[in-house]
Amino acid sequence: MFDLEIINATIVTSTQRFRGSISIENGKIAAISNEPLRNAKRSINAEGLVLVPGMVDQHVHFMDPGETSREDFIHGSTAAAMGGVTTVVEHTHGVPVRSVKAFREKNEHLKNRSLVDYGLTAHAFPEDLGNLKALWDDGVLMFKIFTCTTHGIPTMNNDQLYRTFEEIASFDGTCLVHCEDDAITEGNETRLKAASRNDNGIISEWRSETAEEIAVANVALMARLTGVKATIAHISHPLVVDLIKREQAEGARLYGEICPQYLFLDDQTVAEKGPFAKFTPPARSADKAEKLLEMINSGSIQLLSTDHAPSTVQQKLSKSIWECNFGLPGVETTLPMMLNLVNQGKITLERVIELYSEMPAKVLGIYPQKGCIMVGADADLVLLDMNHKWTINNEKIHSKSGWSPYDGTEIVGKPMYTLVRGNVVVENGGVVGEPGSGKPVTRYKNNSITSKAHDPVLADK
Ligand SMILES: [Zn+2]
Repeated sequence: MFDLEIINATIVTSTQRFRGSISIENGKIAAISNEPLRNAKRSINAEGLVLVPGMVDQHVHFMDPGETSREDFIHGSTAAAMGGVTTVVEHTHGVPVRSVKAFREKNEHLKNRSLVDYGLTAHAFPEDLGNLKALWDDGVLMFKIFTCTTHGIPTMNNDQLYRTFEEIASFDGTCLVHCEDDAITEGNETRLKAASRNDNGIISEWRSETAEEIAVANVALMARLTGVKATIAHISHPLVVDLIKREQAEGARLYGEICPQYLFLDDQTVAEKGPFAKFTPPARSADKAEKLLEMINSGSIQLLSTDHAPSTVQQKLSKSIWECNFGLPGVETTLPMMLNLVNQGKITLERVIELYSEMPAKVLGIYPQKGCIMVGADADLVLLDMNHKWTINNEKIHSKSGWSPYDGTEIVGKPMYTLVRGNVVVENGGVVGEPGSGKPVTRYKNNSITSKAHDPVLADK
């Protein structure tokens, strides 16, 4: 007898759509059948609902341990569960993981603090080259690298970056690179401050498109030269995608990551909302946002994540536009915002699953344990009501920040049930899971072979 059976669902994966039932045993998918097997202790009737694999959000900041007045793992992972996210990959700039000791201590700290499964990203500091392999072997899922001094994390110059890429490539690790050129953002800042500028317009001018382009061109070239597997974090405009494509075509093992704020917000929002639309790189023009959606649909962008980095309203308002924290809350609203696009006919649900579940799991090496629906995979599943009409409301946000940049947006489509390894953590649109039910995720063992065959997209070429 199985533990749980989800019956009469419309099952959608990145490549398939069929009516069926899924049986779960010991946290794993034990059977997928067209007709219900009716042999389980509990059954969920999913008539009218769509069953998809749980989302894998590879870029969130839960500030825990760290500035837990902004967010913590309990609130952040609750928001994730409500947003149909069953695995998060987290890093916190305030308390960066730089050693095996810190990695183990953080895992120990988080033992009873998450509703969803989690992996951790370590920070690669210029002077930490010698620690990276040990961190990788101990289970960090990727390394975060900065080309500019931001959020208190130091920049890497070209020499440091090149040697770090060589080192990560030597053990076939992977990294997520924040790309803005340090000299250009610094020059912009000096000139804007000399002109006594304090208006919201500084965000776009300070963190310019040029700063991002120069850094991406550099990082993409270095990725090709060193052979490192790298993701360009938070792409804000189309030229960046073209720069990535150019190096992909030459053999670079590169992926591009998009976040919802580059699709749903624009430079007008940044100018109007100031601190509440301050993140970097910033949102660009509305026509560029539209072009990015086309690039997602054509396959030129491979990954979707949130870059969830909240602050409370009070924290955003307590400092000048220069000094207040970068970042937005979003892990609860990313999938709903995308479901809205699906209902508007602007993207398929299959493509959303590929971008936000399957591809991140593959790039991180946790597929097919995560990011798919198949027998033997973790029963990380989400039931969607694609017809449910609701409005995003600051008062109902589960993140500690207590607000959303999409407050007031009318949405069609909602995650109603979220299961993490067969545990129901969201039921009928409400939280039922307890902190501690989420477990650390480690790389799938069969996937740790050093081979290009394990690079999604590139392997297909
Ligand atoms: Zn980030």
